[in-house]
Amino acid sequence: MSVEKGPNFLEEIIAEDIKNGKHGGRVLTRFPPEPNGYLHIGHSKSICVNFGLAQQFGGTTNLRFDDTNPEKEETEYVDSIKADIKWLGFEWAKECYASDYFPKLYDFAVRLIKMGLAYVDDSSAEEIAAMKGSPTVPGTDSPYRSRTIEENVDLFERMRKGEFKDGEKVLRAKVDMASPNMHFRDPLMYRIRHTEHHRTGNEWCIYPMYDFAHGQSDAIEEITHSICTLEFEVHRPLYEWFIEKLELFPSRQYEMARLNLNYTVMSKRKLLQLVQEKHVSGWDDPRMPTISALRRRGYTPESIRNFAEKVGVARRENIIDVGLLEFCVREDLNKRSTRVMAVLDPLKLVIENYPAGQMELLPTENNTEDPLSGTREMPFSSELFIERDDFMEVPEKKYFRLSPGKMVRLKSAYIVECTGFDKDEKGHITVVRARYIPESKSGHDQSGLQVKGVIHWVSAAHAIKAEVRLYDRLFKVEDPSSEEGDFKEYINPDSLQIIHRSHVGALLRRCKAWRFLPVHAEGILCTGYR
Ligand code: ATP
Ligand code: MG
Repeated sequence: MSVEKGPNFLEEIIAEDIKNGKHGGRVLTRFPPEPNGYLHIGHSKSICVNFGLAQQFGGTTNLRFDDTNPEKEETEYVDSIKADIKWLGFEWAKECYASDYFPKLYDFAVRLIKMGLAYVDDSSAEEIAAMKGSPTVPGTDSPYRSRTIEENVDLFERMRKGEFKDGEKVLRAKVDMASPNMHFRDPLMYRIRHTEHHRTGNEWCIYPMYDFAHGQSDAIEEITHSICTLEFEVHRPLYEWFIEKLELFPSRQYEMARLNLNYTVMSKRKLLQLVQEKHVSGWDDPRMPTISALRRRGYTPESIRNFAEKVGVARRENIIDVGLLEFCVREDLNKRSTRVMAVLDPLKLVIENYPAGQMELLPTENNTEDPLSGTREMPFSSELFIERDDFMEVPEKKYFRLSPGKMVRLKSAYIVECTGFDKDEKGHITVVRARYIPESKSGHDQSGLQVKGVIHWVSAAHAIKAEVRLYDRLFKVEDPSSEEGDFKEYINPDSLQIIHRSHVGALLRRCKAWRFLPVHAEGILCTGYR
């Protein structure tokens, strides 16, 4: 990664492990999404870190679906996750599924039972919670904790066979009910769920919990560096306990800070609500923080990877301003995107001294930042559209665009001087008139005139009508999740503006990347067009 910044703590750990010949210098990371939603920008950090570190140290990365919650998971999500990772530019070594390990995980559980390290508990979820104690108060033993090994083996087998209903029994690890680490207080390993699984169908009715599935899956795949986010730090002792007791491959867990972004929500549960309750048009609505939405909005994989690089890897939580993400896409599109002129709020401009019915093609560079991008020809004629706010009847101070008697340059075309305008009975300006200076043609300017303003335009007869969608932030506040009440109360009601009256330069169809339109503001109009 970045040389100036020096290695981050994960790079240091991996470099040290390689130096010491740990695992024969081999590096194998994994990206472990749960297929219960679409990937979002937070996941892209994890993807870039996991795949990036492996690439950097000559290793590989597995894609592992952590599919242990059948009621929330779907194949649609599996497919979208794979498409998004590929689009971001990464290739996994193996495509793995925690569900493929169900038989192995079951055997591991039986082994722990036989070692006297796991037991079947008939207590209800509420009873188990009440017996857990609190960080300062030790927990109390479940009355089922002292079941014999034989009884536990038998009951667990019958759980698997489907003899019990959901919630009737669970399998728990027998660790330490007085541990200061709450995760050690006899954590759940298996629960009963008579639900069809998107891959294993009805083969299983018991499913492993995260803590029992994750570390064991890492060990089965012989993952060398298992990178997760900081909230799992407290799970690490348990991760190591299972691996140690089962004498499995010694995968190690490392934690980094999550990516937090303002003006959005990133929990998949909340994103799903936005979709299901139709606050957005779908997972790929351009206002969503999902990778598919960013793609549709015009983000490039490079801009997202660059964003992840800029955010960096640290162990300190912070909130990244969404402006940094927007900066990254702007910087990237500026280098690679073909420009097209578009007028969103059209006002007719008639060039009185340009022959009616005549048209000339003015060559213009597709992207001045990229000499290889070539040129295109823009039709120019006597009737143009300009942006309504590029004309002012009574100009304010420092207004350098068009106003009566004033001159402005039409981008890549001619200098024009405003000669008059018409209004309708309501006082609304309907047409602006001007004369053009033939010697002022862009690139061949012999006029000697100096004008301060440059405005964009399209030729009325040659422009095509377009629906333009202007997207703004989906939320009005920086952190909708921490506000009082429901996060959806903070949705920005003006986050989507649809303009039907706009006109886009005629040669649009030839340009592939028209998402970068040199209209006002910051020069980028990210539209949801596809
Ligand atoms: P949610 O709680 O919204 O369902 P999750 O973190 O449980 O999200 P997973 O599919 O389990 O989602 O995540 C896959 C991987 O992506 C995990 O390793 C997780 O740590 C990582 N990840 C998820 N969100 C972020 C984030 N905001 N920043 C960095 N990594 C993240
Ligand atoms: Mg998760």
